[in-house]
This record gives sequence, structure tokens and C-alpha cells, in this order.
Amino acid sequence: MTAYRAVQGVKDILPEQSALWEHFEKIIKTTCGLFGYQRIETPIFEETGVYARGVGEGTDIVEKEMYTFKDRGDTSLTLEPEGTAGVVRAYIEHGMQMKPQPVKLFYVRTPIFRYERPQKGRLREHHQFGCEAIGESDPMLDAELISVIWSVYTRMGLTNLSIQLNSIGDKACKPGYMQKLIEYYTPLQDDLCADCKVRFTKNPLRLLDCKEERDQPKIAHAPKIAEYLCADCEEHFALLKQYLEEMHIPYTLNPLLVRGLDYYTRTVFELISEDIGGRQNAIGGGGRYDGLIELLGGKPTPAIGFGSGMERAIALLEQQKGTEIAEKQPEVYIIALNAMAKRKAAEFANTLREKDIKTLLGFGSRSLKAFMKAANASGAQWAVIIGEEEAQTNTVALRNLRAGADDDHKQVSLSVEEGLQTILRSVQQ
Ligand SMILES: [Zn+2]
Ligand SMILES: [Zn+2]
Repeated sequence: MTAYRAVQGVKDILPEQSALWEHFEKIIKTTCGLFGYQRIETPIFEETGVYARGVGEGTDIVEKEMYTFKDRGDTSLTLEPEGTAGVVRAYIEHGMQMKPQPVKLFYVRTPIFRYERPQKGRLREHHQFGCEAIGESDPMLDAELISVIWSVYTRMGLTNLSIQLNSIGDKACKPGYMQKLIEYYTPLQDDLCADCKVRFTKNPLRLLDCKEERDQPKIAHAPKIAEYLCADCEEHFALLKQYLEEMHIPYTLNPLLVRGLDYYTRTVFELISEDIGGRQNAIGGGGRYDGLIELLGGKPTPAIGFGSGMERAIALLEQQKGTEIAEKQPEVYIIALNAMAKRKAAEFANTLREKDIKTLLGFGSRSLKAFMKAANASGAQWAVIIGEEEAQTNTVALRNLRAGADDDHKQVSLSVEEGLQTILRSVQQ
């Protein structure tokens, strides 16, 4: 029979990578905690409407990339294509607007599903962490949220990072700007690239996002949102920039940064790593979505959030810190040489683990030499050898695997209790 392979565009996270993932997750949880964010995990699928409405009809995600299916009850469900809409649905459903605002939430290692083109190296299932801060329009919250993603990656030791920042206005000024943009592009329509022709009718803001050479001069001369912000948006943006400076977060203004999703208002940002080449150099991004809660059936509520793809950051982390981050090695490897000894070994392993000592057991019947080879390969500091004599006299032979070859004390015979104490002492050092 042919063996199955993973579906195209998805990846296993193998044990060799799990130390990096654990390290990354720990930094995320610690950092979010420092900022007063609390963890939320929403289901990996929702009713399709949550995303169709929340992300926006006409977006690439909704039109081309969602995994949508009918379940056996004939309900249309969609696997989570981004992190925000599900959190907002939960905020509304659980009456979180009754809690002190803002409600600050984070999620970590959430699987995200999009029907991407795997030939471009993009995954159809990847994992994100992200933060959502709901119920407050104060620009200090925008600055604090940007500070969370900034802190996560700087605490991870990544370098060559920067924040790109823009404001895309609100419902008072965005429509006026969009009108100007459409007027500007109308006579240029026929000369646009194929993607931009679609953007022109469906999502004109994204015309500014085009990477095609032929459209760059058009983008360069297009009206920029900064000149059309209303007084409130302008003040909000000015204050945000001040707070970022107080928080020592370096940013660059990018008037072309618009983000792909419909629901963004005012602040939009991306965290860029110069260590990633090519077009996809953002390791995270987000923005304010003051209209989304209402769109999903809640009361009008301001909010801001970001999402960050974890695989891309893990690849960077591996590149920059791979060898420094390793799984904790075992302290003890127990070798039992007969049936009676195996019972003693099982008991001793149990005692050690109760004391938080990482312990491996040698399984099966092998020669002492074969077991010693496995013990050395495991990276353990101590081999505990229980042979026939040890089993009968309730002793253990303790061999220090990290001692030098000519060290006379590298193997000692001790009572089980003395063996335990010796191991505990060496671990506490
Ligand atoms: Zn174009
Ligand atoms: Zn405005």
C-alpha cells in the first residue's frame, strides 16, 4: 500500500523544531501578560458569515482563499482564515462590553487556513499569534498594542526590525479620500495591470498596494490619505506618533500602507524584518477596526489588533538563534539488565520524575554496551545501571556520563537512596 503524505501546502511541526516553538510561545505569553492581555482561544471554525461579513465580501480571502464547507447539518462553516473576526464574535456573544474597557485579549499558535498557492512557498495552514484590544479609541492603546508586537520580537532577540505606520482615516474622511482616489484612477483604468483592474472596482484602496512595475508611477502620483484626514483622525495619528516616541519604538511613515482587509480604520501598521528578502518581509501587522464590532452585530465599539504569522518568525529565529535554543536534556538514563531490574528501574524512574528530574528508561533487552551507547546519545548526565546484583541488594551503579575518560570516580555503587540524593545534588548545582 502506498503511504499517505501530508496534503499539499501544509506542514508538520516536528520534534526537532518544538524547542523553538516552545521558546517563542513562552515569550509571547510572558510579554502579553506584562501588558495585561489575557488569553482567548476561539474555535478553528465559525459560521461562514462571521468571516464573509467580518473580513469583507470582495476581499481575496473571502473570494478565493477560504476553506468553506457544509457540515452534516447543512450549516456553512469556514476554517478560520484570520484571527480577529472570531475574537470579535466571542466578545459580542459573551457580553464582554459589560467588562471594564478596553478588553485586551491575545491568542497564540492559532491555526489559520487559506487556500494559498503552495508553489510560492505559502502555507495553507499556518499559525498565528495576535492581540485584540476592544472598547477604546485612545491612541495610547494603539501605541501600547504596537509595543506588544515590538516587544515580543525584540525580546526574542530579532534584529533589523522596524514599524511601518499609516493612518487610513475613519468613516468621516475615508469615503472622501476614496472618491479622490477613484477620480484619479478613472482615466488610467485601461492601462492598469490585471489585478489592479479588479481592485479598481472591488477595493480601490488596494491599488496603492500593487507591486507591478508598470503601476508604480501611477501610485507615486496618486492622492495620499494623509492629505485628506479629518481633524479628529489627524489628532489621533499625531498623538499615536508621540506615544510611540515615548515608548522608544522606531517607526517609518508609509503612505502606501493600506492593509488588505476592509475593516481597518485609522491606524494601520506592519512589523518589517530586513532579514527577510522579497515582497513578503512583514512578520506581522494590524490596525484599528472601529467599524467591525457593529458589522458583526454588536454596538458601535472602537478596537485595534494585530496578527503575526509564527512560521515565518520561527524560520528567522532558527536562522538567528537556532543553536542557542535547545530542548532540555535528560538528567538520567536508567538501564535495567533483567526482569527483576526492570521493575526496580520503573520504580526509580517514577521517584525521579516526582522530583522533577527528566528521566529516560532504556526499553527492551539489550546488552550493557548497547544501552550505554543509547544513554550517551541521549545527552543525559547520569546513567543508572541496575543489573542482577543491584536488583537483589537494592543498590544502583551510578555512572557520570559527562566525566572525563580517566576519571576514577565516574562509576560508583550506591544504595538507591544515596543514588537519588547524589542525582538531586548534581541537578541543584
Ligand atoms: Zn497593478
Ligand atoms: Zn477622519
